[in-house]
Amino acid sequence: MVFENVTAMLDKVSKVMELKEEEKQLLLSFSKISHAELDVDGEKFLAWRIVHNNALGPGKGGIRYHPGVSEDEVKSLSFWMSIKNSLAGLPFGGGKGGIQISPKGMPQEKLEKVSRAFIQSFHEVVGVNKDVPAPDVYTNPQTMGWMLDEFEKIKGRKEPGMITGKPLALGGIPLRGASTAQGGFYIFKEMIGDKKDVTIAVQGFGNAGYHFANLAHKDGFKVVAVSDSKGGVYDANGFDIDDVKMKKDENGTVTCCYGDKIDNKEILELEVDFLILAALENQVTKENAHKIKAKNIIELANGPITSEADDILYENKIVVVPDVLANAGGVVGSYLEWVQNKTGMIFEEEYLVQRLEKIMKKSFAAVDHLHKEKNVNMRVASYVLAIERILGAEKARGRL
Ligand code: NAD
Repeated sequence: MVFENVTAMLDKVSKVMELKEEEKQLLLSFSKISHAELDVDGEKFLAWRIVHNNALGPGKGGIRYHPGVSEDEVKSLSFWMSIKNSLAGLPFGGGKGGIQISPKGMPQEKLEKVSRAFIQSFHEVVGVNKDVPAPDVYTNPQTMGWMLDEFEKIKGRKEPGMITGKPLALGGIPLRGASTAQGGFYIFKEMIGDKKDVTIAVQGFGNAGYHFANLAHKDGFKVVAVSDSKGGVYDANGFDIDDVKMKKDENGTVTCCYGDKIDNKEILELEVDFLILAALENQVTKENAHKIKAKNIIELANGPITSEADDILYENKIVVVPDVLANAGGVVGSYLEWVQNKTGMIFEEEYLVQRLEKIMKKSFAAVDHLHKEKNVNMRVASYVLAIERILGAEKARGRL
């Protein structure tokens, strides 16, 4: 069960922080668990919206459309959002939603009905100061647009800040699409300092992976391997990422680019300075962790390294920047959109980029400092900082 990963992580962190039993129990409890059975043209879909902890602010986190969505998964994802939001110093708790559905190939009209049905079921539990959804797997700005429209129709008022990742026309921000990769790229730059001779492999050439590869290439770094679900390519001289993107758009895969063909196992085992994981969860496991030769790994994807693999990588002195830190750029972008919507201001892109950079660098510096000071990996250090903030807010409220 996915939630076992949460409890296992909490056990690890608990030892470092010497958490009291009541603190641990509080972290394992949920502010609000809402579920519903959506009825769309007679077809039923199970759906959830769950807020893990709300001591720091309203819930914040995406809505996932996937056949594998379950209450257990949504609970775990909302817990991880609490950690990510707290670590980034955002005024948000953790929230997540999901619908158990196979959206691939579903007509847009049906997806719109499902999205509106989600809001019809959950409009009492979401809201600008309650719990603020955003896109996640198989949801996008259009999904957010339908949901906002349905919410405002039911409430009879405008409330653009009730959801983020919206189209620009509805109060979204230009930064949101690339903010995850941009945030991870600031961390990469902090790690390498002035070095330029750095090789990078990127597993997953979607939104997060493509934007990261593009930023790295434009800044003069060598992206020597890229992959997608169909496989990958390797070229020791580095790829022209614009060209790779063009080929991917034309043919649906990066595998028809020049370079040597490699599979998705091989890309993980390349001898590179940085391995960027931007595809799926559970890519590095205890089976292949020993074969990883990259010196550094940045987790743009959520959960690409299992807990056992994480320990092996740490023993092998491979630096891992964990998902809750590395891909926080997405939720920082969402935060800036929420602030814009709440205040009615219109932020310039330059300002948004500056804020993202500052927040990412500050989080990274704090984690880097603590992991060296306590001699723990960056994941444990990230959780310690995040949990300290959550418990601090709980105490300040007199709830602990
Ligand atoms: P996406 O669907 O745009 O891209 C995923 C890419 O991974 C695609 O190119 C796909 O072909 C590839 N892929 C699928 N299976 C693969 C496999 N077995 N091996 C290699 N590549 C494979 O998704 P995305 O938005 O880029 O998200 C990727 C990861 O980043 C997810 O874990 C997501 O949760 C995480 N993430 C994304 C954002 C964001 O803003 N996009 C924010 C936070 C976290």
